[in-house]
Amino acid sequence: MLDTSIESPSTNQDNQNLKKIYGQLQSEISEALEKCQVPSKQNSMRTKQLWNWTFLGGVTELSEIKNMPKELLNQLSKNYTLSRNSIANEQKSNDGTIKWLVDLASKNNSTNNQIETVFIPEENRGTLCISSQIGCTLNCSFCHTGTQRLVRNLTSDEIVSQLLIAKDRLDDWHKNNPNNVRKITNVVMMGMGEPLYNFEAVKKALLIITDCDGIALSKRRVTLSTSGIVPYIERVGNEIGVSLAVSLHAAKDEIRDILVPINKKYPLKELIKACENYPKIKNSSKITFEYVMLKDVNDSLQDAKDLIKILSNIPSKINLIPFNPWPGSNYICSDMKRIREFAKVLLDAGFSSPIRKPRGQDILAACGQLRSETIRLKSKK
Ligand code: SAH
Ligand code: SF4
Repeated sequence: MLDTSIESPSTNQDNQNLKKIYGQLQSEISEALEKCQVPSKQNSMRTKQLWNWTFLGGVTELSEIKNMPKELLNQLSKNYTLSRNSIANEQKSNDGTIKWLVDLASKNNSTNNQIETVFIPEENRGTLCISSQIGCTLNCSFCHTGTQRLVRNLTSDEIVSQLLIAKDRLDDWHKNNPNNVRKITNVVMMGMGEPLYNFEAVKKALLIITDCDGIALSKRRVTLSTSGIVPYIERVGNEIGVSLAVSLHAAKDEIRDILVPINKKYPLKELIKACENYPKIKNSSKITFEYVMLKDVNDSLQDAKDLIKILSNIPSKINLIPFNPWPGSNYICSDMKRIREFAKVLLDAGFSSPIRKPRGQDILAACGQLRSETIRLKSKK
């Protein structure tokens, strides 16, 4: 495991009042240029230039932009910046997974302003796992983030910034690889927090990173994972259009009420109905259901059969996640033999049921282990 402190090139610590260009939609950038008296005939060209430098060039200072008038850049810099949030710590796992602890601006005088972002390299793709909140209001009993109180929602620029920081650190900008062989090919909203309790900011951030004039991640390669906030599920399909993952973890209310307590508010019947009605997206008609494997809790072969029954009307993929233990957790991961038997029952019923390979465990970067360092250190005392 490698643990390094980073000198961030350009951070937001000294210019917190400036807006981040990368947190704006193209339409908002165009409005900003209008305010700078850019002639309307040039507005669309200048918007594209700024957008290109930001999302293809990866510049961190407005002054690095070459083909726009200096005067205009100076004017913009009074209200806007390209600086990133700063990285407090970078850890590299033996398996290549990288976890960044990111400092965010302090709001409400809170002392805990850190989130975690994780890069998981695989043979044919690289996935970035992004956070949507500092902490989480929900307290799923097997999740480390759930033991941390919610501090606040992230803003859309703080969500986009996680992708830019990772691209900076991995040198994954278009200008440096003209053949466009990307290191980050997929983004999953599976870090800290419940994205649907921060819907507007998450929506804006995902629309920015999938905009085809910018980083242009395909919506099929962006996945939003939710614990099942039913009223927002249809809106994810209609307004964002990315792939949906649902943290199911149980096929019966009695068990799900304990594992994912929000189930008491939005029980399985309503959740499954919302998934059945999920607006069909051209590229991602299957919904991924996440199912954490907990020994003697939800891993019997009868549980697998119950799962088949409730998902029978939904084109689904069932991702079996071996439970990732964290200090103080009360659960044990199911035996590998049982996980394989469970997967086979699902497979025989026609469901794709991959078993997720645990990654980055030596740096507590695996699914459900993210929780900010400050809190962890405090609790050791
Ligand atoms: N809040 C959202 C997204 C973040 S959690 C959600 O709950 O879906 C991302 C995934 O990790 C979820 O499926 C979550 O249930 C799972 N998870 C949480 N803790 C885990 C653990 N200790 N081991 C394995 N998976 C876990
Ligand atoms: Fe929050 Fe998701 Fe963890 Fe549940 S599993 S506590 S919703 S981050």
